[in-house]
Amino acid sequence: MTDDTDETNEDDVVAPSAASVRPLAQLTQVFKTYQMDSVEVPVIKGVDILVRHAKFTVLLGPSGSGKTTLLNMLGCIDKPDKGEIVVAEARVAEMADDDLSDFRAKNIGFIFQNFNLLPVLSAYENIEYPLLLAGATPSQRGKLIPRLLKAVGLADKAKNLPGQLSGGQRQRVAIARALARKPKLVIADEPTANLDSHTGATILALMRRMVDEYAISFIFSSHDPEVIKAADDTIVLKDGMIQEVWRDGEKVES
Ligand code: ADP
Ligand code: MG
Repeated sequence: MTDDTDETNEDDVVAPSAASVRPLAQLTQVFKTYQMDSVEVPVIKGVDILVRHAKFTVLLGPSGSGKTTLLNMLGCIDKPDKGEIVVAEARVAEMADDDLSDFRAKNIGFIFQNFNLLPVLSAYENIEYPLLLAGATPSQRGKLIPRLLKAVGLADKAKNLPGQLSGGQRQRVAIARALARKPKLVIADEPTANLDSHTGATILALMRRMVDEYAISFIFSSHDPEVIKAADDTIVLKDGMIQEVWRDGEKVES
């Protein structure tokens, strides 16, 4: 113990992987099986996922690999048969249904492939809807909604109904709506699948900007390997199992 070189070095040694991984959500050994005509079909087969705080995560996998099933569990729409799910420090897999819908409304924003806008409401009113449910005052709504519309580049489309908007514009409304309640986590299930590639790329860039500006965690699924370019983290799913995980361009798991 005469050589103190190692000791000196120890002060400089930080664990970069541990320091940079701040989880917002975590799935641990999650399993899900569907029942089809008395046959059990395992769909998620022991999955571990870590969604980092204020990062952009892509869940990449072919159709049928289990992306929607996983995102629904992460988003507290569905529960696992087995395993633990923690979102914003809450153990959601064990929560009662009433508590879960409150928790979901406060903490999670959703963006769907087919936009899921209410067709009889304008762009403005679609964004307003979750705020009304949350009991936001008229003055809060009046301040926030124009800001959100502006952030997604739709300041001049406030009065348009979804039918009077393009696919890309509808998805922008859906993004603004998902952000309205300042969620900690935004989940988007193949948000670019129904858009042409140029519009899809614009929507990706917008979501990327929202992650950085609002410091939210964003996870979105896709079967298009092109989308990896926009992501901090990539989780590759195959047949209900994690195949690879990439963080900041480095492979961390296989
Ligand atoms: P992805 O979103 O990657 O296309 P899904 O999560 O939708 O994958 O589906 C994964 C697998 O689970 C598929 O084989 C699908 O047929 C099956 N599946 C999904 N939902 C149900 C359900 N409600 N009942 C039975 N099987 C289902
Ligand atoms: Mg799907």
